[in-house]
Amino acid sequence: MYAAKERRAGCEMYATEHDHYDPARLTLVAELRRAIDHRELELHYQPMASAQNGHIRGMEALVRWRHPEHGLIFPDQFIPLAEHTGLIRPLTAYVLDAALAQCRQWHESGRGLFVSVNLSAQSLLDVHFPQEVEALLAKWHVPAPWLKLELTESSIMSDPVRALRVLTKLSAMRLSLSIDDFGTGYSSFAYLRRLPVNTLKIDRSFVMGMKNDDNDEVIVQSIVDLGRNLGLETVAEGVEDQTTWDSLARFGCDIAQGYYLSRPMPPESIDGWLSAWASRIPELGNALPIA
Ligand code: C2E
Ligand code: CA
Ligand code: CA
Repeated sequence: MYAAKERRAGCEMYATEHDHYDPARLTLVAELRRAIDHRELELHYQPMASAQNGHIRGMEALVRWRHPEHGLIFPDQFIPLAEHTGLIRPLTAYVLDAALAQCRQWHESGRGLFVSVNLSAQSLLDVHFPQEVEALLAKWHVPAPWLKLELTESSIMSDPVRALRVLTKLSAMRLSLSIDDFGTGYSSFAYLRRLPVNTLKIDRSFVMGMKNDDNDEVIVQSIVDLGRNLGLETVAEGVEDQTTWDSLARFGCDIAQGYYLSRPMPPESIDGWLSAWASRIPELGNALPIA
């Protein structure tokens, strides 16, 4: 009934994924709550490189749940659940805490990397969220510009007035704000111009399609141009091969991220990966317009 009402469909077939009260789901909710309390969630990190010279600028933190029976669970399977059950707030706090601890550690070992954290719509509607971020930055002695927050257009558009208020506070704290999955939402250019964001993160579906689809290539190039004209940094995610990277570098895209560099990795793999990557940079540099 709720699904039918929500979609204004009149009627709907029963489907367990729409049933917030099905017993398996309730068990998972209880387990997720426990997982947050018992620190069973872990963050994996995916490198973000300068598209122009291959140097690593930062890492995106992506959460995983190490379930005692089911093994590693990916965020698509529990973030929506957390969003519907009030668990997203403690989950986001947990992720921010762990990501900032990691960022502090990088800087202590001489690696000047930023960390980028994904937010859900609820954080943007929470007027106390900026204070929570401020407290965590202070706890880990992390200067605000080292932290990037990624939010989607749809999370902003769910309540633009309130979201703008929270974004303005975060921006005044000198945090860097990115619009994730850019190109898939509905924000108008007029609205975009008013948002205090620094970065457009081009949705991976366009980037992954670039090599074989001229339309996708035109879309990516247009977003990079739009970013440049608005004074915004552009990030391309979903970079899976050198050909795509070369095109992005040619278009003037700022940052590349994707399986071509690395899949998201656990923190203990980062040092080894960074050394291996550094030895690949001269080789990459040959293929890139700017060495
Ligand atoms: P996203 O923010 O768009 O993250 C990028 C996703 O694309 C990641 O999946 C990443 O593993 C995958 N990816 C990266 N490079 C490539 C590539 O070259 N090719 C392909 N095919 N895929 C690539 P993941 O880690 O499963 O995350 C899925 C989504 O879960 C994220 O999408 C984000 O929306 C959400 N998420 C992850 N961590 C958090 C979190 O801490 N909080 C919140 N609220 N959401 C999170
Ligand atoms: Ca993201
Ligand atoms: Ca994305």
